[in-house]
Amino acid sequence: MTNNKEKKGLGCIQLAILFLGGFFSLSFLFFGVLFIWSAGAPGVDSGARLSTGIILIVIGLVFIAITIGITVFIYRRLHPKEQKIEITQKIDLSGDVKMETLKCQKCGAHIDKNSITLKEGAIIASCQYCGSVYEIEEAPKW
Ligand SMILES: [Zn+2]
Repeated sequence: MTNNKEKKGLGCIQLAILFLGGFFSLSFLFFGVLFIWSAGAPGVDSGARLSTGIILIVIGLVFIAITIGITVFIYRRLHPKEQKIEITQKIDLSGDVKMETLKCQKCGAHIDKNSITLKEGAIIASCQYCGSVYEIEEAPKW
């Protein structure tokens, strides 16, 4: 479990990577385009300029891919926790649910958020591993 401080730190790292990665990749792309653009100018080695430009653009694209990859990775680390909170709140609305029923009664697999649906006031869980569907028991409201 990540605490709030760590979460904030990760958020800062995410912003920094986005900013730096975006800056680097855009500069590489910019100079790559400049090189290719100037390849047609008279008196220059157009072949060398063209290949340098292409290499710069490829590096820029790799930088973009890495930036997006790291950002998505950090985003996923930051957000699954919030989705879990959402599940509990949803279920709390219709009474207390025995938490152990959120495991499949047949195969013991964890029932995830997407497999839980509300149907006529009852919470229906379906196991995505063995395919069994059943109602989640609700403790009576006192
Ligand atoms: Zn199952």
